[in-house]
Amino acid sequence: MGEETNVFYRNPFADYPMVARGEGIYLVDTKGKRYMDACGGAVVSSIGHSVREVVEALKTQLDSCEFAHTSQFTNRPQEALAGLLAELAPGGLNHAYFVSGGSEAVESAIKMARAYWVQMGRPEKWMVIGREQSYHGNTLGALAAGGNPWRRAIYEPMLYQRPRVAPCYCYRCPFKKDPAHCAIECADDLERAILEVGPEKISAFIAEPVVGATAGALVPHDGYFRRIREICDRYDVLLIADEVMTGMGRTGKWFAMRHWGVVPDMLCVAKGLAAGYVPIGATLVHDRIVDTFTNRRNVFQHGHTYMGHPLAAAAGVAVINYIKEHNLVDKSAKMGEELLRRLHEHLDDHPHVGDIRGKGLFAGVEFVADRATREPFEPELGFKQLVGEAAFKLGLIIYPMAGTIDGRRGDHVLIAPPFIITKAQIGRLVELLHKAIDKACDTLRAAGKL
Ligand code: PMP
Repeated sequence: MGEETNVFYRNPFADYPMVARGEGIYLVDTKGKRYMDACGGAVVSSIGHSVREVVEALKTQLDSCEFAHTSQFTNRPQEALAGLLAELAPGGLNHAYFVSGGSEAVESAIKMARAYWVQMGRPEKWMVIGREQSYHGNTLGALAAGGNPWRRAIYEPMLYQRPRVAPCYCYRCPFKKDPAHCAIECADDLERAILEVGPEKISAFIAEPVVGATAGALVPHDGYFRRIREICDRYDVLLIADEVMTGMGRTGKWFAMRHWGVVPDMLCVAKGLAAGYVPIGATLVHDRIVDTFTNRRNVFQHGHTYMGHPLAAAAGVAVINYIKEHNLVDKSAKMGEELLRRLHEHLDDHPHVGDIRGKGLFAGVEFVADRATREPFEPELGFKQLVGEAAFKLGLIIYPMAGTIDGRRGDHVLIAPPFIITKAQIGRLVELLHKAIDKACDTLRAAGKL
């Protein structure tokens, strides 16, 4: 492709193969090469490619109505999807605000939090606190809430400034504590930030239950979100769970917040919601927020043209039904254990694997230059990219992450295959990953850099 293409993305010079078709956990390019899709693209394809039931549901919907605007009509698929989500979500999150992707879901939540406090007669509350090492989307509001220095860098002057809260990054604990004996100082850091700015200005705190794109499946301390909920309640701060990556079964429960029994005020989903069949996102909203928008004068002032799109919602319904019928959330939990077991078995002694972590079929591997000191590779070496490229050549797709340890360094890959993956396929996945890591090391060695 390269310069002959009229498509413009982040890297216009990359030589991407042309995809021809998908088959279960595999993608096939136009030259016939098969790739194991071990990260569902970007943690999207949760049920695998070309599932007949979902394709049929989309065709059926197209035969009846392709589009009707939400300001004029509701439609059956969005009503059905909202009902299903209310059943699956933690208690009280009974309403869905449908949009077209993760960033839109987060933007909607940020604005809804602000609108809620205006409704409540507290218009001075507007600021959203986020964490370091987090990602909530690339639109300006979502980018401002996130803490990924690499993604923010050139847009910094356009982003509202906000206090930063420590991540739960146990392998590199910002408080130098051992997770087995810590006092969850990273949760208390939220209280510090709220008091620093003044609780009267803070509308919400946003966090990914298990951090994805920025740090490779960081699982929090078991007591973390309970403490966060208490702090939010103490200072009238809404809690937004960004489950764009972790939602819809990815971590072995329908929603990751269910691991700790904590109910947020809003919960953002996207990726797995229609599993890549059609773009969709949603902000699930607690009754007590919706209840403040009670008449025509105080509508939630926001919206996008394609919200509640019948085709997207029809895909969402079909995906949820497929997951239920095939017990795929349980499979995600069980196969996730198998994936972590195999990763430990193969890579625990590898000199350049520092940490292996995750929950359900959502795993991260962090690479280091030196295991003893946990010193990361220099970013110029592009280690994660070398691993990603070697894996791709071997027919394995994983998701390399941008360095964010000190705003510059850090190499992680995410592994998040479709929930239909088998034990044997997990074995193959880990073998190929191991090979790819060794090949990346060979490349550095050949260049005299290792
Ligand atoms: N939140 C999280 C946690 C994400 O991982 C992502 C995407 N990687 C987003 C928001 C943004 O979603 P989208 O790319 O669909 O806008």
